[in-house]
Amino acid sequence: MTDAVSTSSVTPGTAESARLFERAQALTPGGVNSPVRAFASVGGTPRFMVSAQGCRLTDADGATYVDLVSSWGPMILGHAHPAVVDAVREAASKGLSFGTPTPGEIELSAEIVARTPVEQVRLVNSGTEATMTAIRLARGITGRTVVVKFSGCYHGHVDALLADAGSGVATLGLPSSPGVTGAQAADTVVVPYNDLDAVRAVFDERGDEIACVITEAAAGNMGVVPPVEGFNAGLRDIAHAHGALLVIDEVMTGFRASATGWYGCDGVAGDLYTFGKVMSGGLPAAAFGGSVQHMSYLAPAGPVYQAGTLAGNPVAVAAGLTTLRHADDAAYARLSENAQKLGKLLTDALAAEGVPHVVQYAGTMFSPFFSETPVHGYAEAKAAETWRYPAFFHAMLDRGVYLPPSAFEGWFVSTALDDAAFSQIADALPHAAKAAAAATAA
Ligand SMILES: *Cc1c(COP(=O)(O)O)cnc(C)c1O
Repeated sequence: MTDAVSTSSVTPGTAESARLFERAQALTPGGVNSPVRAFASVGGTPRFMVSAQGCRLTDADGATYVDLVSSWGPMILGHAHPAVVDAVREAASKGLSFGTPTPGEIELSAEIVARTPVEQVRLVNSGTEATMTAIRLARGITGRTVVVKFSGCYHGHVDALLADAGSGVATLGLPSSPGVTGAQAADTVVVPYNDLDAVRAVFDERGDEIACVITEAAAGNMGVVPPVEGFNAGLRDIAHAHGALLVIDEVMTGFRASATGWYGCDGVAGDLYTFGKVMSGGLPAAAFGGSVQHMSYLAPAGPVYQAGTLAGNPVAVAAGLTTLRHADDAAYARLSENAQKLGKLLTDALAAEGVPHVVQYAGTMFSPFFSETPVHGYAEAKAAETWRYPAFFHAMLDRGVYLPPSAFEGWFVSTALDDAAFSQIADALPHAAKAAAAATAA
């Protein structure tokens, strides 16, 4: 009965997603398990996906989409990569979780250590857990409380890090979040991204209270905004001059921006690192790491406590390890080629319709801003003509191309994009550019 009511007003071809969304809304807030999936800023019915293969997603109504979200980053090899699925099947058949150390954890840790500046890692279940613990560790090591973060940088939904957190928070137009205490907010100093003078000013004033600066290696949660030349190195130097640590969050950029993450692009080493997304292979896994000296503060080697029932889960580790082992130089060359090709198609389509835009890259990540001028920080990202995005997004979706449902997100290519996918994208883009050109500010 409720079906007739809920499906009468939706676009043909989304009836089943609409029915599922209605059920989901009854059972979970907003009908989704992570806010940006809800299409809140683009409108319409979120598509419920039932399967994926290579570069394509299939929804509950049987429609297929070329996927440019890649599960928000992890699926660099495409969906259901045969080697990854085999590794997962093999691991699962040997038992799902032991609550003991397992050999695979060593292999995954070694792979991360080999590719990045860290000497030791601890495996956890999500990027949020990784950044939360990196902050605790920085506070434990320095005996200080204050954390400096940048507006528009997202580090997971850690209380102390939600202020001006870009992405999902920005999409919903929330300044911060209720439920974060005044004390937590007071221990967080938010500074404009790419502004070293502002960082210096904060350190001049409160340098001896600051435990760490945390930054996205290259910002990807306000759209893609790479650090300006010298920014990450400047952060390291300022932090070190005051006895504070630099925490570089590579949850998004790690093993995606390049084989060695953003570190491979600018060569600036931080003190503590966080990883997630790609290294999980699409299952829940993340990590944080640093030098042996810093990591030895962590329990059971040291006093800073951290634990996890499912941390280093053997099935997740198998997915992550197999993904990294297949993410070789050829894969990154292809990712880079795909990102450049897609960015060019996008620019050409928008230029043809006279839509003001810049396409910004950080390694193989990129995103468009509807802006005349390059975007260096959150204020500029928010000042862009984001109201053009819903029309653009839906024109692509209607033609079977799945983009991030928010103007504040990067686009994520996979190595699995094929010629057919590129022609479908190329055919859809002119329509989307027209829709963006015709859009009006609300
Ligand atoms: C996604 C992301 C996180 C949070 O990771 P989750 O696994 O979603 O908790 C943290 N930092 C950055 C830079 C991210 O992109």
